[in-house]
Amino acid sequence: MNKNISPVKGTHDLYGQDMEKFNYVVELFYSIANKFNFNAIQTPIIENQELFSRSVGELTDIVSKEMYSFIDKNESILCLRPEATSGIARFAAANYQSGSLKFSTHGPMFRRERPQKGRYRQFYQINIENIGEKSPYIDFEIIYIASAFINKLGISNDKYNLLINSLGSAEDQNNFSKLLKDYLSQFTKKLSETSLSRLNKNPLRILDSKDDGDREILVNAPKIRDHLSKESKDYFSKIKMFLSDNGISFQEDDKLVRGLDYYTHTTFEFQTNEEKRQNAILAGGRYDKLINMISTKDMPGIGWAAGIERLMALIPNVNKGNNSSKKILLALQKEEYLNSLNVLKQLYQSDFSHEIKISNNIKKLFSYADKNDFDFLLLIGESEIQSNEISVKDLNKKIQKTHSLTDFNLKNEIR
Ligand code: ATP
Ligand code: MG
Repeated sequence: MNKNISPVKGTHDLYGQDMEKFNYVVELFYSIANKFNFNAIQTPIIENQELFSRSVGELTDIVSKEMYSFIDKNESILCLRPEATSGIARFAAANYQSGSLKFSTHGPMFRRERPQKGRYRQFYQINIENIGEKSPYIDFEIIYIASAFINKLGISNDKYNLLINSLGSAEDQNNFSKLLKDYLSQFTKKLSETSLSRLNKNPLRILDSKDDGDREILVNAPKIRDHLSKESKDYFSKIKMFLSDNGISFQEDDKLVRGLDYYTHTTFEFQTNEEKRQNAILAGGRYDKLINMISTKDMPGIGWAAGIERLMALIPNVNKGNNSSKKILLALQKEEYLNSLNVLKQLYQSDFSHEIKISNNIKKLFSYADKNDFDFLLLIGESEIQSNEISVKDLNKKIQKTHSLTDFNLKNEIR
């Protein structure tokens, strides 16, 4: 019998340096989101499956192949969320009053994909969404925040590209769908099985195909760029102008349709220059159709999501804490020395990060303090107890002093 239970395929534990990095990315994200007046939200991890089949789309990879769905005891069909936007849109539809609702969130997402480096079945995203109002400035601002965030993380701009595209309005998409379907219908014998199944119901989805044969056929397909209404083109031009004015370089890429059905108008993706499929670090777009797909309301929205693991892979390790908070080890030879110890109470009341360690072996206590980056060691051994003293060692300056245990004042000695 195998006694060791491993983590589920495609999942991973976060601990130590990884956890430090994770928190660093998340904190930095919220600091920028707050600066632009976005409000934090947490929506449930389990949702009704219908939320995603209606919004992300029945024919997308995410919903058709990758969703973790199950029948609950009351027979409703639930799933683990594959993305965050739909849950936030559900909340926005139910709670909207006026103006823009601006949200920031982070948390785990679940997709049953083939695990690879940078691709997991449980992975973490940070998200930002602006729902309720629509203008080129709003689209620009959401992209600007992404760019500021990536720069603040210290990822230099020669390491990634920003790709942008416009999918036009819902009406543009309907018109274009017909043209695309006519073109693709000439190749029914060559198209992949998946694309063929999408041809009638949702030909735009085929533009997102990863199949090499399909990609070849798509080279000469009509381009959505050539079939945008004047209004949609103007809207897109204004966003590009804001980007240029603010020094954000971008490339236009008309293949950027994104893997979800709810996008309209602006789509964008930050990709690293690495030659691998998992090179997308942050992606998003405008989703003016989404809210009406899941509610009786109809309002515009735009947002993005970034993969935390993919960002973590691009930044160096981070140092825990800062110098203003000293880390203290209170080391004792016997646990009973803790009884009625005023040092312990002072530690509890202080802001210092601290740990209590008990061992008969004083050498072990010293080496534990050294190995774990403590700044100060407070030692109460047998000899200290006998003389009613406490030894304080500054581990950075390597100075050791003894003090009376009765009069010991933590704040005077730690600086
Ligand atoms: P990809 O093209 O890499 O599959 P996607 O288009 O499916 O990405 P989105 O749904 O737009 O991704 O999610 C936004 C971001 O979340 C991606 O840019 C990526 O950084 C991250 N991401 C998506 N899927 C995974 C995954 N399975 N594991 C880790 N990160 C992921
Ligand atoms: Mg994907």
